[in-house]
Amino acid sequence: MSVAKPFSEAQRMLRICAICNYCNGFCPVFEVNVHHPPTAATLAHLAHLCHGCRNCFYACQYAPPHVFAVNLPRALAELRHQVYLDRVWPPAGRWLLDYPFAALLLALTSGWLLVLLAILVGTAFDLGAPMQTGFYRVLPWGLMSLIGALPLAWSGLALAIQWGRHWRSIRPPQARGLMRAWWRTLPAILSLSHLSGGGVGCNDRDAGFSQARRRLHQALFAGLAFCLAATLTAALYHHALGLSAPYPVLSLPVFFGTAGGVLVCAATLGFSWLGLTGDPEPRAPRASHLDLAFAALLLIVAASGLALLLGRASAWMPGLLAIHLSSVWALFALLPYSKFLHAGYRALALLQESLTEHETRGD
Ligand code: SF4
Ligand code: SF4
Repeated sequence: MSVAKPFSEAQRMLRICAICNYCNGFCPVFEVNVHHPPTAATLAHLAHLCHGCRNCFYACQYAPPHVFAVNLPRALAELRHQVYLDRVWPPAGRWLLDYPFAALLLALTSGWLLVLLAILVGTAFDLGAPMQTGFYRVLPWGLMSLIGALPLAWSGLALAIQWGRHWRSIRPPQARGLMRAWWRTLPAILSLSHLSGGGVGCNDRDAGFSQARRRLHQALFAGLAFCLAATLTAALYHHALGLSAPYPVLSLPVFFGTAGGVLVCAATLGFSWLGLTGDPEPRAPRASHLDLAFAALLLIVAASGLALLLGRASAWMPGLLAIHLSSVWALFALLPYSKFLHAGYRALALLQESLTEHETRGD
């Protein structure tokens, strides 16, 4: 990792914290910080061990306007962004991470052009001839699947490289029992237990405690799971039952799709509201821009999916389908250059902690 300003700022603050140690008990960051020198690898790990609850910021006697200016949530959010940049693959992805709204616009525009091209090719060569009904009258099933599968395959490779690079830099030297550690870590990842702030909640918007961010994460998780279920059941209907989309209101794909779309819309609007109205002091601007751009992209995908559900029998259907497919293409293509990175980095930080804890206890 480069010794950039985010690194030196976090290092400076964590040295003060190691002496003060008042916040030990708020989160594992302080415990690790006390026992390990703030090297580049330790700091990269601590950046993702912090889940941005802001408890330490509002409790800190050295926070601004104190001359020490300790602002750990902001420093670690800056550092998280720096780690994303340092591990990004291919290196050109740095630009997408640093200018997330331009990246969003670029991805949506290229997705739109690609979908229009696919529609023209499908029509010109009559590729949808055997099943010219519903959505497939506009775009043949094969081309529609490629629009999702190609960017997803690319993103899977890029994410594996980036998360792999990070894991190699933070894993404990004698890491044993990796699978068992995953099983131990999984409940904390899925339940987002750290976001409860020890029960009282996080300081999501200001010095007051709240469970809002935890609830919004849970809504987003559930919404994405419903969307995945909608895709899988639609594939089952298509391949196993020989039924072509669009499906009736009382069908599993429509039920899952509607529930998923509503939850993702609600969660992304909630995240955006927290980001735009909360106290800006503990927030890192470039990390916030990445958050907001990803929330906007998820919102576009979910809202266009719901609009397509509502308008699937109308004359608007081809246009709505093209908008939804291009936004799905943009989402899949941008996964390794968006806030989605956080999911893997955070899971690896918890895994590292679980392994270290068990090694220390000699399990
Ligand atoms: S955040 Fe402030 S109060 Fe907490 S350990 Fe660091 S210096 Fe001490
Ligand atoms: S913001 Fe929360 S999670 Fe991050 S270091 Fe402070 S107390 Fe720990």
